[in-house]
Amino acid sequence: MSVHSDQSPTGLATPTGPTVTVLGLGPMGRALAGAFLDAGVRTTVWNRTPGRDADLTARGALPAASPEEAVAASDLTVVCVVNYDASDAVLRQDAVTTALKGRTAVNLSADTPERARDTAAWADRHGIRYLDGAIMTPAPTIGTADAVFLFSGPQDLYGEHQPVLAALGGSHTHLGEDPGRAAAYDIALLDIFWTAMGGYAHAVAVARAEGVTARELAPFAEGIAAILPPLFTEFAGDIDDGTYSGELNPITSAASTMAHIVHASEAHGIDAGLMRVIEGQARRVIAQGHGGDGFSRVVELLGRS
Ligand code: NDP
Repeated sequence: MSVHSDQSPTGLATPTGPTVTVLGLGPMGRALAGAFLDAGVRTTVWNRTPGRDADLTARGALPAASPEEAVAASDLTVVCVVNYDASDAVLRQDAVTTALKGRTAVNLSADTPERARDTAAWADRHGIRYLDGAIMTPAPTIGTADAVFLFSGPQDLYGEHQPVLAALGGSHTHLGEDPGRAAAYDIALLDIFWTAMGGYAHAVAVARAEGVTARELAPFAEGIAAILPPLFTEFAGDIDDGTYSGELNPITSAASTMAHIVHASEAHGIDAGLMRVIEGQARRVIAQGHGGDGFSRVVELLGRS
């Protein structure tokens, strides 16, 4: 993508291509702005704390003195701050709201589906065209084939801005018109990530107590993690169809393994609270008469509690 310039009567270049503003220059906001610049998009940047735009302005980004000035500079504003308290603090200032009227804002900050829907309703009340989004990969992936973006909100608005958003690289998926849907996926996927990371931290603590270093465990940890992706697909079928097959690994066997982890951890004085919770869920499934089912039946238990 490249920006075309015409000469204005003043002799200054007037961009006729797409224009983007990025509000928020943390690691992710800087990566987004950098990808737009690399794609030749005229990019205006603003951050609450001054001075975070130095590398970007050296690469051609236009610094704005205020968020309202930043928003007024472009057709499309991408917001990427820590959460929706922060994006509200920026967007809901009267001058910014006024400047955004009739323009499009895409909020790529992370928060809950409820906050995304609330922001979409606020935008609608103020004549602001609004898309919500979530970024599922770390900052260094932005602008590469590895980036993963999720979007939700009006389909036609997504279609209108997709050619510019494509500058961010990777895969882009529009999940539907409900503005909370991207955040719903984000929450679910981060749930997997952070509980797995919590399990990893616990596993390494127990392994170290047994004299096994994190480096020694790493290749086998990778192996156990590799078992999960096909299980997600297999479990999805079980869960959506309500079959909960435990033919090859009934939850009675899984609960027994979990008890070993609890005992081994606590023998070393290591908190086993997370595993106790999971074992407790498995035991409740068994107590309900479903001991022959697979671990996936825990989803049913949680959904009903
Ligand atoms: P942070 O989540 O730490 O957010 C930092 C940004 O938020 C800074 O620009 C900061 O401004 C701004 N901010 C915080 N509070 C306010 C406020 N009250 N008003 C205005 N601005 C505020 O850094 P990231 O850039 O990494 O993340 C941004 C978003 O992207 C987050 O929602 C994160 O979950 C998401 N994300 C990040 C990934 C990553 O790899 N970094 C991966 C996937 C998603 P200031 O400089 O003034 O403090």
